[in-house]
Amino acid sequence: MGIRDFINDLGLKEGDRHRGDCPQCRGKNTFTATNTLGDIQYNCFKLGCTIRGIYVTDMTVAEIRRRLKDQQTQRAYTNITKEKETMEIPEYLVTPKANHTKYQRFIRRWGIAIADTLYDVKDERVVFLIKHKGRVIDAIGRAVGNNHPKWYRYTGEADYYTVGNGRILLIVEDVLSAIIATQELPYITAMAILGTSLSPKHMEKIQEYNKVIIALDPDAIGKTVEYRREIELWTGNKTIAMNLLDDIKYKMDEDIDKLKELCNATSSSD
Ligand SMILES: [Zn+2]
Repeated sequence: MGIRDFINDLGLKEGDRHRGDCPQCRGKNTFTATNTLGDIQYNCFKLGCTIRGIYVTDMTVAEIRRRLKDQQTQRAYTNITKEKETMEIPEYLVTPKANHTKYQRFIRRWGIAIADTLYDVKDERVVFLIKHKGRVIDAIGRAVGNNHPKWYRYTGEADYYTVGNGRILLIVEDVLSAIIATQELPYITAMAILGTSLSPKHMEKIQEYNKVIIALDPDAIGKTVEYRREIELWTGNKTIAMNLLDDIKYKMDEDIDKLKELCNATSSSD
């Protein structure tokens, strides 16, 4: 089956984005196709796969307008029905006190200075709240006692964790690195993707930023390269992949200096 037939069979309407297995290299979930006003742009993220192009469908202007309108109505409806649920804070998540020594030791050790934390007295976890449009929708807890796993999600509602209000987005491995990065570089926003792959929800958020830097832990350099490629293809924005000496949370001088340099370079070229 040719690529045109393959795309036709997807039946993409105006504004639709498809992601799935690649018809050429058979890469799992590496193929995307997006219909923008009748032009279907397609490509594959897999390194070495050459499938990429634009397929112009013959929609009339009237047809495009009608479909756009349908789509907008549908999108408005979806937004209402898919609103994130507010998290009900369980009783064992409490405001941290001076005598919660495991909590206090962790906060001191990492020099955490953000306010949105609670303490899970049942499981001994430092809990970081995740907000969406001003409401708490999820929380992620870091074990400070002997409990497993090390990280625990309380609702699973959140698609990502972000901290900071800067115009440069830094994508890091975990919540702790995100918090520490924004404390070192207060003019950025940091994002922990809370999972092993980027989804359309991540892309929607990433698209809000002009420049994106990815700095995952050094043992994940393959993933860093893959994310960079995916983000550039999805958003069309220049994305920088940074090699770290150690995880951001360890604040190696060389890493922080290099990061500052990259941020300054990106902001001055805006
Ligand atoms: Zn492919």
